[in-house]
Amino acid sequence: MSTLSAIQNRDIDHHLHPYTNAVKHRQIGPRVIERGEGIYVYDDQGRKYIEGMAGLWSVAVGFNERRLMDAAARQMEKLPYYHTFTHKTHTPSVELAEKLVQLTQGRMRAAFFTNSGSEANDTVIKMVWYYNNALGRSQKKKIIARNRGYHGVTVAAASLTGLAPNHRGFDLPLPQMKHVACPHFYREGKEGETQQDFATRMAEELETLILNEGPDTVAAFIGEPVMGAGGVIVPPETYWDKIQAVCRKYDVLVIADEVITGFGRLGTMFGSQKFGIEPDIMVLSKQITSSYLPLAAVLLGDKVHSAITRYSGELGTFGHGYTTSGHPVATAVALENIRIIEEKNLVENAARVGEVLQSSLRALSDHPLVGEVRGTGLIAAVELVADKAGRVPFDPLGKAGAAVYEAAHEHGLIVRGIQDSIAFCPPLIITEAEVKDMVGRFVDTLENVK
Ligand code: PLP
Repeated sequence: MSTLSAIQNRDIDHHLHPYTNAVKHRQIGPRVIERGEGIYVYDDQGRKYIEGMAGLWSVAVGFNERRLMDAAARQMEKLPYYHTFTHKTHTPSVELAEKLVQLTQGRMRAAFFTNSGSEANDTVIKMVWYYNNALGRSQKKKIIARNRGYHGVTVAAASLTGLAPNHRGFDLPLPQMKHVACPHFYREGKEGETQQDFATRMAEELETLILNEGPDTVAAFIGEPVMGAGGVIVPPETYWDKIQAVCRKYDVLVIADEVITGFGRLGTMFGSQKFGIEPDIMVLSKQITSSYLPLAAVLLGDKVHSAITRYSGELGTFGHGYTTSGHPVATAVALENIRIIEEKNLVENAARVGEVLQSSLRALSDHPLVGEVRGTGLIAAVELVADKAGRVPFDPLGKAGAAVYEAAHEHGLIVRGIQDSIAFCPPLIITEAEVKDMVGRFVDTLENVK
């Protein structure tokens, strides 16, 4: 402890951290990140790291984009805050709502703003319930999510999340939320099964669950086009078509949680485009402002939007919203951030440089510790195994990713450990040379993994 700096000790004394083991935090002390530049961040010891995770899958335009700072300052001077309740609005929120609808090529009709992805998914749950009440279907309220899916941490959103740490100790999930299997062929596929058979089986399992619960009680299915926090799981090609066919058959809404996949991550503006998903509701956050300011959006298709607006007219008001819904500075920054993504062709960059990331990581497939390399565009994961042929997990407690996460810092690299997998999700501005440097540092890190 005595080797820790004053700021580290003050942090330990008074700052309770999200997603952190508090005991370990006291032992090793926090790393103090002081500034950013491009794809790099620097700690208070002057050490430079490639931010291979774009923060938390967030920073599209890099860590010192002057245009976002200027956009925030301009809006701060003009109108630093105003709300959007009871028939008030302001230009940045209107322009952003319009822009988001336009980016979906008119598939979505309107945007509702929140501050975080969790609040957005909580909002979605309430909207789905409200929608079915509007249609007089008071029983149709259950929402189906997937094991290893991640949808946030508020009481209801955490109930959609399919990860044990988000339920353990919190008395969750809520009973209205159900889970089906994770579409991870490498781990969940059966002997002799093809990817297509596997996708069919996943859809059949969904149908069985809907039938067992009763179609009149199932309101929606939610999924990330590619799972992020659950370990970067890319589903088989036909998975989403088959899942959507089941949802349509039973009048179950399709919700695409694009909090990570939105704004170019997969090499298309939205992950839905890549997989032919036609969502009734879409959720966006993170790269919407490059996370320079907190913001999320729920996009509603016409069907849900018109039912909700009609019903709220009948009830007198739509009783939901946040003090900072559509915050003027956050929405102004989002607009500028999206302008940069478009002007610098960052979606195309994610597709092009993403191929380099995918091929450089796949070149590690023969490494004795590497079981699977997966990903698409600028998101990827490498899963470590103890025995390749038997696909035996590297660590019985699934802690290999955390060990590699720590070790990578010594090579100037920040990645993310997810059980025995290591995730990569660099800023969309990353160049080919920087991707190669990042993968090189990861290979150097692996040298010391035992
Ligand atoms: N949905 C997805 C797909 C996410 O990846 C996340 C966060 O990682 C969330 C929702 C929750 O967002 P937030 O952390 O802003 O509440």
